[in-house]
Amino acid sequence: MNIHEYQAKALLKDFGAPVAEGVPVFAADEAEAAAKKLPGPLYVVKSQIHAGGRGKGKFKELSADAKGGVRLSGSVEEVVGNTKEMLGNTLVTKQTGPAGKQVNRLYIEDGADIDRELYLSILVDRTVGRPAFVVSTEGGMDIEAVAEETPEKILTLAIDPETGVTAADSAKLCDALELQGEARSDGETLFPILYKAFTEKDMSLLEVNPLIVMENGRLRVLDAKVSFDGNALFRHPDIVELRDVTEEDEKEIEASKHDLAYVALDGNIGCMVNGAGLAMATMDIIKLYGAEPANFLDVGGGATTEKVTAAFKIITADPAVEGILVNIFGGIMRCDVIAEGVVTAVKEVGLKVPLVVRLEGTNVEKGKKIINESGLNVIAADDLDDAAKKIVKAVKGA
Ligand code: GDP
Ligand code: MG
Repeated sequence: MNIHEYQAKALLKDFGAPVAEGVPVFAADEAEAAAKKLPGPLYVVKSQIHAGGRGKGKFKELSADAKGGVRLSGSVEEVVGNTKEMLGNTLVTKQTGPAGKQVNRLYIEDGADIDRELYLSILVDRTVGRPAFVVSTEGGMDIEAVAEETPEKILTLAIDPETGVTAADSAKLCDALELQGEARSDGETLFPILYKAFTEKDMSLLEVNPLIVMENGRLRVLDAKVSFDGNALFRHPDIVELRDVTEEDEKEIEASKHDLAYVALDGNIGCMVNGAGLAMATMDIIKLYGAEPANFLDVGGGATTEKVTAAFKIITADPAVEGILVNIFGGIMRCDVIAEGVVTAVKEVGLKVPLVVRLEGTNVEKGKKIINESGLNVIAADDLDDAAKKIVKAVKGA
């Protein structure tokens, strides 16, 4: 789960990180009062969307030479003008895709005078199985380009969870970021704070790009992007409250209500599978035969007819889906439960696209009987390979 920059900053501030004063704004008429709460004379008006690259982004509704999604403003009037121009419009950045994202919230922040822009993130380094800091002096720009062209400018430092961030770790990070004087002592304070926030809140990513050294020599978290591990959300009700469902895929929200492991993808073949491994193999084999999956969906082992019905409805409601592949290996899952779910769902919502069903395992005969006697126009398949070939052919031939 992702949150907005202003929410991430409030969270990091609670842990003691240095962030600027700021006020979130949801309507244009709130801008003036918000700006007046800040000291000025420099303000920043920042689009709040769950995507980065806002500064270099472009608004669809504005002319090509209009400013981007992060705007420095020299007066309260300018803050109000920028708010009116940005709020409600669609921002397209490198990370939003061409459709862009509508800006429904802005964050108005006290502007900083910047000396240097640094990069810092914490993530789980899977190769060592530990949280790791990734830092670079080359912040504020495309870190991917730095990784590609000058990887020696990036330091990755894994942290031992037994000790947390040690003084030696902090020193290495300060050296890599070339921090001196007050900025160095700010860094020594900040790194353990960020690590604590990361681990206590079960984050999967904490990215500060840029972390800045201000002209007064102090450090500040200027941008913050935070993602949380969805599997740990149950123990963070305060984080769940920060969820902005307008930023998320509607199908994924619906799926999460039914406790389905569903991820929307760009292709046109809807998949209903049990088991994450089989679901991935199914996606692979669809690609092998020259088509693209519309989703990942694992209905799980102990799914009920209701859950299968919900899953099938989510797939059929996706306008991109031109064919559906149901691929079930019944181990814990029973084939008759899947068959009943499919039949119930089709009776409720109809079936406008080809449907290939491959059932194998527990109660397979019962399952096949339910499908055969339902009168549904189903293409039966013998095995995974056969099923994938048939659905790709049905969709491409259509
Ligand atoms: P992003 O483009 O989505 O990553 O948004 P950021 O919050 O990182 O802002 C983009 C850029 O705007 C930063 O890299 C800075 O160069 C600039 N910027 C943001 N806030 C300030 C500020 O308070 N003062 C100054 N001078 N520049 C800022
Ligand atoms: Mg940034």
